[in-house]
Amino acid sequence: MLPPVEVDPWRFCRDGQSWETRSEVAAFPRLAHEFTQGTLFCRVVGRVDQRGSLSLQLTVSGDVQLTCQRCLGSMPYKVDVERTLYLARNEAEMERLDALPDSDAIQAGEILNLVDLVEDEVLLSLPLATMHAEGECPVPGAQ
Ligand SMILES: [Zn+2]
Repeated sequence: MLPPVEVDPWRFCRDGQSWETRSEVAAFPRLAHEFTQGTLFCRVVGRVDQRGSLSLQLTVSGDVQLTCQRCLGSMPYKVDVERTLYLARNEAEMERLDALPDSDAIQAGEILNLVDLVEDEVLLSLPLATMHAEGECPVPGAQ
């Protein structure tokens, strides 16, 4: 299991720090339930933009296997998440940042677990129901 990677998100961005890992899906506490096999590459980079707003740039990619909800067979899936998340101190700031075009915000406290953040974004990116395309479930003995 990946240990939590806890950082001060404000400092992480101000100092332009970055964190990356390449790990088996089984090592992610929550993703291990979604995916059966595969490796994910994750990178989080902190930055300050011209307006002084702090943001985290998140990249998660990899080829994984998950379980088709129709036939319960294995199904390949490509994770490809690219997100910029602005840090907000409170609800008001969060609403303001969320309203900007192409902007997503997270309310951040003093400590942020980057593993948790990566997991949240991957889970959000998944379709509601993961299954093979219509008629493409391998049916045992059908061929
Ligand atoms: Zn299927």
